[in-house]
Amino acid sequence: MIAKLPRHHASLLIQLRTCHIPLKQYLHQFKCAESLLCEGCEQANETIEHYLQECPAYEEQRAKFKKAVHRELESIAKVLSDLKMLPHLFEYITGTQRFAEQYGDLSYSNPDDG
Ligand SMILES: [Zn+2]
Repeated sequence: MIAKLPRHHASLLIQLRTCHIPLKQYLHQFKCAESLLCEGCEQANETIEHYLQECPAYEEQRAKFKKAVHRELESIAKVLSDLKMLPHLFEYITGTQRFAEQYGDLSYSNPDDG
């Protein structure tokens, strides 16, 4: 499944799955970020759960994401491993602009769609 993805998407997905994500919690371990605090809301540590499920700064994007994947967003593992979820995941990521600096444009459509 990973092999079908464009390089940037595959690389980000692998990082999200292994938790080696360019979010604060990871960067902090290596003293690359001064605090763990999420820049979006400044209310919580920026973990993968926070980014995908909780951060109020991305509510608008998340509402769209939830509508597209229904209850699946409750399981991060599912969202990160199901090919059908990926276009929605990347749409969310693109919408939040959170990884724009590191990965550029991540807009993506399902390769099976043509
Ligand atoms: Zn936040």
